Order: sequence, then structure tokens, then C-alpha cells
Amino acid sequence: MPLLVMKFGGTSVATLDRIRRAAKRVGREVANGYDVIVIVSAMSGKTNELVGWVNETSPFYDAREYDAVVSSGENVTAGLMALTLQEMDVNARSWQGWQVPLLTNSAHASARIESIPTDNLNARFASGMRVAVVAGFQGISPEGRITTLGRGGSDTTAVAFAAAFGAERCDIYTDVDGVYTTDPRISHKARKLDRIAFEEMLELASLGAKVLQTRSVELAMRYNVRLRVLSSFEDNGADAGTLVCPEEDIVESNVVSGIAYSRDEAKMTLISVADRPGIAAAIFGPLAEAGVNVDMIVQNISEEGRTDMTFSCPVDQVKHAEKALAGSRDRGDVNFADLVADTDVCKISVVGIGMRSHAGVAAKMFECLSSEGINIKVITTSEIKISVLIHRKYLELAVQALHDAFGLDKAA
Ligand code: ASP
Ligand code: MG
Repeated sequence: MPLLVMKFGGTSVATLDRIRRAAKRVGREVANGYDVIVIVSAMSGKTNELVGWVNETSPFYDAREYDAVVSSGENVTAGLMALTLQEMDVNARSWQGWQVPLLTNSAHASARIESIPTDNLNARFASGMRVAVVAGFQGISPEGRITTLGRGGSDTTAVAFAAAFGAERCDIYTDVDGVYTTDPRISHKARKLDRIAFEEMLELASLGAKVLQTRSVELAMRYNVRLRVLSSFEDNGADAGTLVCPEEDIVESNVVSGIAYSRDEAKMTLISVADRPGIAAAIFGPLAEAGVNVDMIVQNISEEGRTDMTFSCPVDQVKHAEKALAGSRDRGDVNFADLVADTDVCKISVVGIGMRSHAGVAAKMFECLSSEGINIKVITTSEIKISVLIHRKYLELAVQALHDAFGLDKAA
């Protein structure tokens, strides 16, 4: 039988009533003749609560126990979804990650999927099971311990199952009806995109557009999974939502397709470090080991053999970064005069594959920000995106102004 993967995010399974609504959608696809793998998130807010409990219990926690705690939210919704389907006379069964099994590496709290053997589920499909409800976000390490895939990881679970089982489509049901040119809560002119290229979605996702976990887009791109983002609160027709697809499948697009932001960034500057070979490795190695997600890096020009090094990271990792750098200084690996943290910054990025063939996007972005009186603190660019750090209080203004400047309210 043809197979679909349907993933329901936290808001789509937030109450028993919503689980029932989601189950009805699944039931319709079963009636259409599909076997279905349903991937569920935890009820919305649940994972945050669990993470909070872990942090309160143990600020520098053992990541294996973090995973033991935070993976539990998905177990509840998987069981409830299976029960709801059974009440509708659909032959359904829940599966925790280890039961499938979804095999990962041992990088607790941000584990990578290594493989998903299909025999177990396929044998059950062959003997009459119509729906496998799989707990998203979790797997099992080679040591036999529960792992989780990083926040938002159930998107990645969904795409990985779609790839492993050769699903016809991977539908991601969420609380928005697709991917927008920017966050509609910030600009009322935001427009839903019918299609977006994998690469653009990858940038938007990694830049903080929360609709899909970055890793899930990488996987979809690699295995060419037809990925659709759509609302679980509306009746959607066959072409509802946004299709994330190869670039060739997009006929017309604006030079810029989206504006993303990340509100809670920090800018850290190491004042006066030695400008010598190996200094960057000495700084960023220990930061990586401490799990700090360094994003932008700027090294200033040096004077008398000393330079300043600036980087950005999520604001909630500032303490970890400070601790790691203090450790490096104590060991004598890196010497610096001061470490200055600016915790009031946000990052704004414009993204579009059209930038490859159009010049002047950066200039237009900077003019736009300047005409709003917004100071730019750090700039980075890549082939299809330009990012800036600015003061957090200008976030809304910057997004709205850039959305207007690039004419994103109108389709190409
Ligand atoms: N429940 C997990 C989280 O909130 C995984 C997910 O929903 O994708 O991050
Ligand atoms: Mg999510």
C-alpha cells in the first residue's frame, strides 16, 4: 500500500480534542487507501516544562538524564493518538523511538539519526496495522540509552521516516498554514509562499524561522522528500500549505524570498587577544566542546600583534561561553584583556536564491536600515543570505521595513 508520513506538532496535539481532530485527518488518509506513519510532538509547552525541570534540578546537567526526562512528552501523545485512532476503529499502534528502532549516535540532546531499520514496522503493516504512531524527537544510542534530536526534532523524525520508508509525501501539520515571507506576527503584510526551495528553507530554518527544524530540511533535500507544511486547523485542499521543493520546481520568485530573525542573540567580544596562528582554534575549540553554537565570527584588524575577536551565540549560552573562555584563560591557552557580552542584540537576515544572479541586495538592505536610523553591529553574508546584528529593540521595525523594501507583500 502507498505510505504517507503525517507529523503533528505540539499545538496540533495540545488537547485531547485536538488529538481527535488530528486523528480524523489520519483516518481520512487511511480511508483513501494509505498506510500512515504518524509522528507526534509533545503537547505544546510540555517540552519547555520538562527542560525547565531539568535546569532547575541540575544547571550543568548530565545530558543522558536530560534526554530521559525531555523525551517523555512524546510518549504520552503517541499513546493517546493510538488510543484515539483505535476508538475510531483504525488499526493503530504506538511506537517509542527505541522500539522501531530509530538508531542515533551518542550525542545526547542533539543526536544524529544513523538509520531506521524498516523491518519491524513493515512486518506490522503487512499483518494489518494501518497506522504506526511514532513518538517524535527520540531515538536510541549505540549504548542503548534514549537520545533526543534537539529542539524541534520531531520534524527531523518525520522526514527521516519518509526517506527510510519511501513515503509518497511528508506532511508537516502545524499551527500556521505554510511558510511565510516573514513572521506574520511581526508584519501583517507577510505572505504565504506556495513553494520554497530547499536551500532557502534551509537558511530560513537555521535563521530561526521556527516552522521546520533545520536538520529536517537538510534531510529532505538530501533524500528528495516531498515536504509539505500545512495547518492542522483548517481544511486544506490538495495544494494547501507550502511545498518545500528543489529549486528547478520554482518558476518565478522574488530576488529575496524571506526575512528571518532570531530575537535572542548575544554578541561577545574578546578584547586584545594575540594575533597568532592557532588563536581562533584555541578560542572556538573549547566553545564548541561546551556546546556553544557560535554563529557569526569577526576578527578585527590587529595592532601591535593584538586583535579583538567578536562572535555571536544564543543569549542563553552566554554563561556557558564565559565559563569555557575563563577555563581557556586559566589554562593559559588564550590570553585576553576582557570579555564583553552585549546581550541586547537580535539577528535579521534576508534570504533568496535570486541573490546569486542579482547584485545590490546588500546595499539595499543597508540603505533600508539606515533610513530607519538603525545601527548595524555585525554583518555576514553568504551566497543566498545577508545577516546583520542590530539592537533588539529595533527587531520589529527592521523586519517590517525590509519586507516593504524588498516588495515581499507581492508575488513575483
Ligand atoms: N517536543 C520537542 C520540542 O518541543 C520536539 C518537537 O516538538 O519537535 O522541541
Ligand atoms: Mg516544531
